[in-house]
Amino acid sequence: MIITIAQSGRQKLQQDTKLGMLYLNVDLQKNWQLQMLRTLLLKRILILFLLLATRLVVANENQVFTGKLISVNLAKSEIVIENDKQQQSIIAVARSTRIIHGDQKVTLITLCPEQQIAVSIDSSIPAVDKIRILGDRKLPPKLLYPTSELVTVIRGDLPIIISAPHGGREAIPGVPKRNNESTPKFAIKSDTNTYQLASTITEQLEKKLNGKPWLIAAKFHRSYLDANRSLENALEHDKAKAVYTAYHQALQHAILEITCQYKTGLLIDVHGQSRLPDVVWRGTRRGTTLGGLVDDFGWDVVEGKDSLMHTFNLLDYATHPQGMDASEGPFGGGFITATYGYPYGLNAIQLEFGYSFRANKEIYLKTAIDTAEAIKRFHQRYLTKKLDCEPDAINR
Ligand SMILES: [Zn+2]
Repeated sequence: MIITIAQSGRQKLQQDTKLGMLYLNVDLQKNWQLQMLRTLLLKRILILFLLLATRLVVANENQVFTGKLISVNLAKSEIVIENDKQQQSIIAVARSTRIIHGDQKVTLITLCPEQQIAVSIDSSIPAVDKIRILGDRKLPPKLLYPTSELVTVIRGDLPIIISAPHGGREAIPGVPKRNNESTPKFAIKSDTNTYQLASTITEQLEKKLNGKPWLIAAKFHRSYLDANRSLENALEHDKAKAVYTAYHQALQHAILEITCQYKTGLLIDVHGQSRLPDVVWRGTRRGTTLGGLVDDFGWDVVEGKDSLMHTFNLLDYATHPQGMDASEGPFGGGFITATYGYPYGLNAIQLEFGYSFRANKEIYLKTAIDTAEAIKRFHQRYLTKKLDCEPDAINR
């Protein structure tokens, strides 16, 4: 829950009681007198605030912190940087901050529609040790992400990402099949026809909505690389790493663009399960990965009338589980859903389609049409709010 501790004009000092974190709503209107008045008031608030918590650094408009990244505490949404005088600053980033964990390096992005403060470590700079606190929602220019022939990326303009990490069939050249069964959650079986299902959902959505969702789908077979795992558990051969990076940086990039342009977005990670072949199984870590929307709209987001699950039910699909207290395990939301869902990325849901919904082309085509209908309803209810920010030209 967010409570407001102090307020002046459009500036608010607020606390997230759940995370125990304080943050500041900064308004960036270019009105000198107002701005000065605000600055004065802000200083007073800050003194009061510093008495309460001495560790917070608050970002002003266009303020730039340069230094070495010392640590990132995702749980507490804090980063620590050190300047050349060995002084360390802890920067508490806001609750709606998007924090994205990159490959070896950490990419931090806060694009908060309300706070209007962005923190990023510009990953296009080779030495990723610069933290810029920007006063607007603009993307870093010329941000590039690596691509791979084994990862399909279709750039979208809607706040929807369809991801399918387990539907590929191709080998990765020079990479043997994985065989280390002691790897946590080791699995090498592919999710049959989910590449086709995900691509067809994307096509159907384009027909139903006035725009394009993002599609990020693996062409590589899971036996060589599992993109739905942390890097250390995803692969056994160095050559697979570039493909892993391509998948995840495309996801991160899509999230970056979406959070720049929309108040919120939805990531759907498409999978196949064979435990209950006639069921669509949801994974949201009990609503947590959809938490940004659940905070605003309640459990309806997961099972209410415009939820994906409810539309599936209306279209005669059995869904699992039912109710807020039911366990979602063992498909409760894997690495992608957890990493890129709330609070670190967008709102995210894992959809595990039973085999009966993807057994052949005729069947997955119908499933894709119905899934697109469910996403359309969800989109119209929850995802249409745009922000006034356009991304710079990047990998188009
Ligand atoms: Zn899967």
